[in-house]
Amino acid sequence: MDRDKILLTPGPLTTTLRTKLAMLKDWGSWDADFNAVTASVRKSLLKIIHAAESHVVVPLQGSGTFSVEAAVATVVPHSGHVLVLDNGAYCKRAARLTTLMGRRCTLMPFDEAQPVSAQALDDKLRTESTVTHVILIHCETGAGVLNPLQAIADVCERHRKGLIVDAMSSFGALPIDARTTRFDALVAASGKCLEGVPGMGFVFIRKAILEACAGQSQSLAMDLYDQYIYMEKTTQWRFTPPTHVVVALHEAIAQFEAEGGQPARLARYTRNYETLARGMSVLGFRPFLDPSVQAPIIVTFHAPGDPKYDFKTFYAAARARGFILYPGKLTTAETFRVGCIGAIGPDEMEQAVHAIALTLQDMGIASAAPAA
Ligand SMILES: *Cc1c(COP(=O)(O)O)cnc(C)c1O
Repeated sequence: MDRDKILLTPGPLTTTLRTKLAMLKDWGSWDADFNAVTASVRKSLLKIIHAAESHVVVPLQGSGTFSVEAAVATVVPHSGHVLVLDNGAYCKRAARLTTLMGRRCTLMPFDEAQPVSAQALDDKLRTESTVTHVILIHCETGAGVLNPLQAIADVCERHRKGLIVDAMSSFGALPIDARTTRFDALVAASGKCLEGVPGMGFVFIRKAILEACAGQSQSLAMDLYDQYIYMEKTTQWRFTPPTHVVVALHEAIAQFEAEGGQPARLARYTRNYETLARGMSVLGFRPFLDPSVQAPIIVTFHAPGDPKYDFKTFYAAARARGFILYPGKLTTAETFRVGCIGAIGPDEMEQAVHAIALTLQDMGIASAAPAA
């Protein structure tokens, strides 16, 4: 069968044929037509979170992590002190890259099954006076927890701290409004909820702090201030752009807008999530998170307790039936993850659950219930 498998992964994810077809053309990086596409994408991105008045958006080549790293190096002064609210793997990654960028970094640990606490941050900032910036992961893709962006932004504003938001797996699906939520930088990427292909990230930077970012990054290629200035001056990317990724994102955004924008995307992903949760619970699977803290983006399930279960076999059998699952990323429990995002709907989720049911049968597992 040469049909693409359905990706139940949080990026890369399943894209539409229309988005894929947009890549069947070569573009010159100096070409006015291509630069008009870049400009249009940037304008659309600002519109999605109502940021045109308050922020600029700077695209950057590479996977999402490149843009998180670029944002930290561009926005945080060398003498800065970053506090990372840590409830999962992506938080730890943000802390590590902050340290590698030579910025002082403190981790503030939280339970990975719970959202981070705005109250705890408020208390912490009362005593930790040297902190200049806070990093929040909006949806912690490690377990799938939704973190309280508005409450954290309010605490940061009250304490006059900069806020850097990794909204990689939430942007386009969960509501974000730059008019009412204050942040210095917010990072997302092409290959997540906008349903483009992977290859570029983008960073919203608050206009009020932009000038202070000049010369702050120790990196040439990942200096977002330089990228911004060059792009404003020339309409071009500073270095070779990921042309096919940009035009695919442009096409994906046109479909995003036609679908009804963020509210419609959230509604579809929520239906995907509900279909998945219902079907998996019938098979005996137990979700790692309480539904009240779960974002409808990616769901972590406990591994079945049956000794015949092992992830590699399970993955291979589901794959043979056309569905790509995702390993767990928790240190505390054996789990696996299923993404709800991408150009898929409840029908595909229904089929995925069916494929998983047959996979369990193949493995001789009667119930997927976790070990007691
Ligand atoms: C996907 C993702 C990233 C970026 O990961 P890459 O592998 O670099 O694309 C960063 N943060 C979060 C929360 C993510 O979901």
